[in-house]
Amino acid sequence: MHSSMNASTGSSHGPLPTVGFIGLGNMGSGMTKNLQATGYPLVVTDLRRESAEGLLAGGARWADSPREVAASSDLVITMLPTPKHVAAVAAGADGIVAGLPDGGTWIDMSTSVPEVLDGIRRTEEHRGLHLLDAPVSGMSVGAANGMLQIFVGGDAVDVARLRPVFEAMGDPERILHVGGHGAGYAVKLMINQLWFSHLVATAEVLSVGVAAGVDLGVLRDALVASPANSTFVSRDVLSILDHGDYDEGFAIALACKDLGLSVDLARSVGMPVELSSLVEQIFRRARARFGDLAGEMTPVRLYEEMLGRDLRREAGEHAAEVAA
Ligand code: NAD
Repeated sequence: MHSSMNASTGSSHGPLPTVGFIGLGNMGSGMTKNLQATGYPLVVTDLRRESAEGLLAGGARWADSPREVAASSDLVITMLPTPKHVAAVAAGADGIVAGLPDGGTWIDMSTSVPEVLDGIRRTEEHRGLHLLDAPVSGMSVGAANGMLQIFVGGDAVDVARLRPVFEAMGDPERILHVGGHGAGYAVKLMINQLWFSHLVATAEVLSVGVAAGVDLGVLRDALVASPANSTFVSRDVLSILDHGDYDEGFAIALACKDLGLSVDLARSVGMPVELSSLVEQIFRRARARFGDLAGEMTPVRLYEEMLGRDLRREAGEHAAEVAA
């Protein structure tokens, strides 16, 4: 099944390599649509076959196991919830490792940790596998419109070779080679840690300001114009303030997973992280209160409950900003 382009990404002068993709959820569904639209032949699998319907209609092939995906494609991409899921598709008679040819390529784009790929690198050292970590930012909307930010950890030669594949899913300006194996995972966890910390800090100050009698829109505009501004205050919080949207495209269960991995990473390198631990606990409280599938910004609702009202700008204020 392997074409002569195995271990390459092809070019405009030849057929594009076949991409095997495992994990067609909120993120993987958009990423595969963009790969398909760019012309990459796809072999896909997921626990939920229905998640592949659109891709199959567009010419993708279904595989019954991760092994078959790896054995039928020129490179494999995984986009799975947690390190446990990544380990599950890697191992065993039906796993990716069993299906990859010697010299084969596997890019894990999940937000995860290096242990799984490091373990394979050790046990399969003689096989010359190319294993990269390349987690992403940009939410499900970024996956859908092909504008993900991608943080790649791995060898420079592999990153250069695979750039066209990344460009089919991400913003070419924001596909960053951030270091060797594992660096992509670490950068992604630190980004999420800081963004989630901004979220909690913002919810806190907006709630206190409103409780003190300041108009929500005025307070938020003052923050945007101040040295305390952040992308969260200037952009991301507006989905709550204007639409009551807490982003169900990213489940709070996964946000808690990321925060747990971030605190674990800090522990493994011997850094005390009082603030990160506190943010993790606040997210876990929100998850316990509102359920696993609640949106990643749901911790804001804890503050809204204490405040006794939702944090929403008046429609007029919103309209003024759109017009400006
Ligand atoms: P999701 O839960 O929506 O999708 C995961 C998919 O993997 C599901 O379709 C599930 O059926 C499938 N799956 C699980 N185990 C499997 C197995 N053994 N074999 C085959 N398929 C399996 O998750 P998501 O929101 O797409 O997130 C995926 C990864 O991307 C996570 O690591 C997450 O942290 C990260 N991420 C998500 C977002 C976001 O906004 N959703 C943004 C950036 C990064």
